[in-house]
Amino acid sequence: MALLTVSGLGVTIGTLSPLDDVSFEAHKGEILGLVGESGSGKSLTAMAVMGLLGRIGGRVSSGSILFDGQELVGLRDSSYRRLRGKRIALISQNPMTSLDPIVRIGAQIDQVSLLHLRLSKPAAKARSIDLMQQLRIPDAETLHRAYPHQLSGGMKQRIVIAMALAADPDLIIADEPTTALDVTIQAQIIQIMVDLVRARDLALILITHDMGVVAQACNRVVVLYAGRVAETNTTQAIFASPCHPYTASLIGCIPSRDQAEGTLLGIPGTVPGVLNYPKGCRFHPRCGDAMQVCARTVPPTTAQPTGSVACHLHEVVT
Ligand code: SF4
Ligand code: MG
Repeated sequence: MALLTVSGLGVTIGTLSPLDDVSFEAHKGEILGLVGESGSGKSLTAMAVMGLLGRIGGRVSSGSILFDGQELVGLRDSSYRRLRGKRIALISQNPMTSLDPIVRIGAQIDQVSLLHLRLSKPAAKARSIDLMQQLRIPDAETLHRAYPHQLSGGMKQRIVIAMALAADPDLIIADEPTTALDVTIQAQIIQIMVDLVRARDLALILITHDMGVVAQACNRVVVLYAGRVAETNTTQAIFASPCHPYTASLIGCIPSRDQAEGTLLGIPGTVPGVLNYPKGCRFHPRCGDAMQVCARTVPPTTAQPTGSVACHLHEVVT
């Protein structure tokens, strides 16, 4: 059974509807990639699941978010606060948004288990050092007393992962966790997360625009485009025979490190903003396979052997 089932999720911010009919499942022991260019709705989806839309003046306007059998849509703030950090943890792109620069890193990790697991101070410290060692942080005892600025970017991100793990969550959402790091460190951090998911039977939603990261880490992939799901499939199928033209172009142009997020080699144009979502298939202005129907009618989502796709090319003609 899925740990998280998102179905027909719509999000509004004021009069805008940036997310529309988003559905996917996340399972324990699995890394689910949430993929797409900047502006496709990946982070917004994460915020909806985390119950954080209120911070940007947004709300869930339709659909359901079932977590371990519990409906999260409409959940009270106080209940959400108990869930966040404890059962669902977030790892953000920039470790400095999660780390307090003037508090020793050990104290910051300890704080999570003091709060959520109600451990004693010595037990919390022992747990933090153990977690740091599991994340292959050298000399964890010493670094427990260090301040964030004394660590490299890769080490800081490991500390953020340790904080996310400290309450022993079931689901971790990692939003572009390695984007700020260089390629070698990025690969190490991704490998650490792959190992953690296996060892702890976690569910991990990995948000990324980097198909190289998807290939390295993910079991299944949800491809978002302009606030809708273009394709859901196994990583193997996505790379072997992508169903959606957008997925195909994402794979055709794995971006280089120094290329800005939001641009893709080979796909002209950019993701349309929420004010300019095209009618019909939102990808049609950039799609080399577009037909007349594509500009008029939203493509239905149809089942595929290992996933599903929303594209008129795959529509079953009756
Ligand atoms: Fe391209 Fe049409 Fe499929 Fe959209 S529905 S991806 S425009 S072929
Ligand atoms: Mg984002």
